[in-house]
Amino acid sequence: MMAAVSTRPAERATGDLPRYDVGALRTAFPALHQAVHGQPLVYLDNGATTQKPRAVIDAVVSYYTTDCANVHRGAYLLSERATLRYDAARHRVAEFLHAATDQEIVFVRGATEAINLVAAGFARSRLQPGDEVLLSEMEHHSNIVPWQLACEATGAVIKVLPFDDQGVLELDRLDALLGPKTRIVAVTHVSNVLGTVNPVAEIVRRAHARGIPVLVDGAQAVPHLPVDVQALGCDYYVFSGHKVYGPTGIGVLYGTAEALQALPPYQGGGDMVRTVTFPKTTYAPIPSRFEAGTPDIAGAIGLKAALDFVATVGFDAIADHEHRLLALASHALAAIPEVRLVGTAPGKASVLAFTLGNVHPHDLATILDRQGVAIRAGHHCAQPVVKHYGVPAVARASFALYNTEAEVSFFADALVKAQEIFKR
Ligand code: PLP
Repeated sequence: MMAAVSTRPAERATGDLPRYDVGALRTAFPALHQAVHGQPLVYLDNGATTQKPRAVIDAVVSYYTTDCANVHRGAYLLSERATLRYDAARHRVAEFLHAATDQEIVFVRGATEAINLVAAGFARSRLQPGDEVLLSEMEHHSNIVPWQLACEATGAVIKVLPFDDQGVLELDRLDALLGPKTRIVAVTHVSNVLGTVNPVAEIVRRAHARGIPVLVDGAQAVPHLPVDVQALGCDYYVFSGHKVYGPTGIGVLYGTAEALQALPPYQGGGDMVRTVTFPKTTYAPIPSRFEAGTPDIAGAIGLKAALDFVATVGFDAIADHEHRLLALASHALAAIPEVRLVGTAPGKASVLAFTLGNVHPHDLATILDRQGVAIRAGHHCAQPVVKHYGVPAVARASFALYNTEAEVSFFADALVKAQEIFKR
């Protein structure tokens, strides 16, 4: 059932495919071709992190092998090369998000750090006692806790836009929640549990009509759909490299120039300053102002390679393939007695959360692991979402561009086998 291991580079594996050839694509991902517990790996935890194509691994290795120097500092060739590659990565991200300029791209550790940066900035410069921060009920903890910290520091309060049992945001309640004290709306583009793709452009439109800025958490969106931040109109957009086939430890905060300039510095240190004296420091312009200290240079270079890789495959093809897998999996799971699908919004992304009778999702994930199938179990750092469904935890399979129909069938069969084991 598995594609054969190949040493062909990713470019040749993906470049001139006449159709979506998942077998050829898989050859670009070394980690997929291994056995776990004596079984071929079926990796279905892509919502947590994705495997990395050879092109990303090679890009990171090549930085450390030939171009390893600090950026923006050395007047020598290696540093120039490192700086060029780092700047090229920023440009690639700007292109990927359709940002107006490279200056609107800040490199951070990931979506979590990006949200903390904005929330801390709001706490220091915008939020007053009684002000409101509007979140949705389907946020990842990364888009809840930083705002709670900001509210605790300032006396502001959190308001919550709920979702219905399908996992669709109740937009008819949005206008009533957007009040004169709302200072920001922070909402996920795609839910990491429900897979719902939220109508963020519409949310932005309504918030902006009242002069309220919007942060969009794109951590689960960027692997699945093309993002155009200018078309969305959002003020901030965040994502993590590792969920879109890039390295861990690198992520992005996009902000319009105006929205970034409105934030105070986040961390102090080298590279984010213009002048420093003991009484006073003046700060570098955006985006350097928010990149204190030596950045994750290799990570940025790897992220560029990941975005190049995704572009070579193409979002139309990725979405088409992943939706086919999702439909197949939803159908197969719905046929298994006692499976309850969690999140059935129309047009959802390839994230499939479910419960199986009274079986604890952790036990289920452990049994599936023995069959080589890696899925996620728990509250998925979105406790309000699982609470909505009255359960402590759910299981989740999430599909990526390299998963196959055979893997989906194997997963469904493994689930039936697991069910039999639990019934004994
Ligand atoms: N937002 C969403 C919707 C996520 O799914 C995740 C991670 O699962 C995050 C934010 C946090 O991402 P990271 O841990 O890479 O910062």
